[in-house]
Amino acid sequence: MEKEKKSLKVSRRQFLQGLGVGAGVLSVGGTLDFANAALYPKASKSEKHNVVVIGTGLSGFCTALQAKMDGADCVIIDKMPADKYGGNSKLAGGLIAIPSDNTPKAKDEYYEDFMKKNMGKGNPEITRLLADQSLEGVDWLKSLGVEYPPAIGMAGYRVKAVVAPPGIFRGMPKMLETLKGNFIKKGGKIFYDTKAKQLIMDDRGKVVGVRAMTPKGLRDYMADAVVIATGGYAANKQYLEAFVDPDADDMMVRGVTWATGDGHAMAQEAGAGLVGMGGLAALHIGAVSPKNTSAGNPFTAVALCLGINRDGKRYVDESKGYVSNGKATMKQPGQTIALIFDEEIKKQPGASTAVKQFQGLGLEVIEADSLEALAGKIGVPPAQLVKTITEFNNEVKDGKALGATPPKVAWAYKIATPKFYAFYPLVPGITLTFGSIKTNGKAQVLEADGSVMPGLYASGECAGGVFYDDYVGGGSLANCLVMGRIAGKQAAAGRKAAAKKK
Ligand SMILES: Cc1cc2nc3c(=O)[nH]c(=O)nc-3n(C[C@H](O)[C@H](O)[C@H](O)COP(=O)(O)OP(=O)(O)OC[C@H]3O[C@@H](n4cnc5c(N)ncnc54)[C@H](O)[C@@H]3O)c2cc1C
Repeated sequence: MEKEKKSLKVSRRQFLQGLGVGAGVLSVGGTLDFANAALYPKASKSEKHNVVVIGTGLSGFCTALQAKMDGADCVIIDKMPADKYGGNSKLAGGLIAIPSDNTPKAKDEYYEDFMKKNMGKGNPEITRLLADQSLEGVDWLKSLGVEYPPAIGMAGYRVKAVVAPPGIFRGMPKMLETLKGNFIKKGGKIFYDTKAKQLIMDDRGKVVGVRAMTPKGLRDYMADAVVIATGGYAANKQYLEAFVDPDADDMMVRGVTWATGDGHAMAQEAGAGLVGMGGLAALHIGAVSPKNTSAGNPFTAVALCLGINRDGKRYVDESKGYVSNGKATMKQPGQTIALIFDEEIKKQPGASTAVKQFQGLGLEVIEADSLEALAGKIGVPPAQLVKTITEFNNEVKDGKALGATPPKVAWAYKIATPKFYAFYPLVPGITLTFGSIKTNGKAQVLEADGSVMPGLYASGECAGGVFYDDYVGGGSLANCLVMGRIAGKQAAAGRKAAAKKK
């Protein structure tokens, strides 16, 4: 029966992949034009702007503000009501990855660390732009009134990160409010409860607007340029089933439940290519507390701790960081693990930050005077836990444990000084999605063969193809910031080109 269920799911996956998942494309009865017309007739109401941005996350605001500053008449539409603006950006930890200083060497190191983490499969042009422009982007945010204390180091990387006050997981709502305030002060308008449904194209294939569903029915937002900034597809079970794994629809989602990849579908329906959509490599997965899946992620501590599964064994090189740890957690018994550490490790900034974060959220950090007692509290066989730790401790030399199973290539410390602690239970949750709409360094949307789709741009999590399999923490918000601004500049420039033609 189980086998039957799987094979049914696989054929559904193949079906969805074969067709693309866009709503229009699923109307297999007629041509694409017919499908579109049948789904959404021409709206009776319309308005015209230079630039229409879809989405009020960080990328949407950076795009819209930049377009406005470059003189464009720009509006934003968002499918959510005003009290739910901000998408996953509002829930984010808030780290933005920047080079460690403003020198060419530091920018090269940033680029190299990103490309290493994405196995060389990230878009090199866009990664280079993040390396070269993220520092300037942070200065731009400061000029708009976003406060940033000095950058913090990122364990294991040659990059740093800035976090807006009052700190990790608390700074983003205020930061977005500041950007929203700036946009409105500059005369920008935001239309909430306005869900983009399909792109409107002219007879030359140029995108000239977006057809949206409002509480009063369909409305066409015509524009010289449309920018898709709709975020990821972590909450779209159909996409996860189709592109990741037939059983991926069961995965826990850390972010908002409306991150459904609408932009991916709309762009694909209009002819855009998608990149990096395949399998688990398309997902960022972190091991998080099931009681607080968004902020209950002790990511600053992962590399310092030992990951222990229900059998009391290690299962991953923890020094590879929290995405690697989260993905490995999926394959552990009961998909539940503990991250354990001792009194000495607790003194390190990465561990103490995570402990404070958990306590601030009201989440228990388990503690015990002995490893046996800790084992009892996290439900693993005490003798096995002691064996695992003893074997690991024996291999620790010069901050590495190369002879351990599995080896730990950095940040290896003995677990020997009571008290002993655990972040437990931790389970896998999808943070963000890496597979995206194909774009170039000008944020222009591309067809699968690389041709530019005139009038259409995309920025943020839905675009760029910068990440694959893993990422440097803070990379996604850096992508929203840098590529958002570039999309805004390019879209505003498109308006000048349109004016010249007239
Ligand atoms: C818990 C958590 C912590 C994270 N921490 C970090 C971190 O510290 N650093 C980092 O770099 N990344 C982090 N990330 C990832 C990062 O937050 C996201 O990748 C990023 O915020 C995405 O921004 P965005 O602007 O592209 O999309 P979003 O912020 O998700 O915004 C998309 C917007 O588009 C709107 N929208 C969608 N479809 C439509 C439609 N059809 N019509 C109209 N509007 C639509 C949505 O309502 C939403 O407002 C974290 C993610 C989560 C969930």
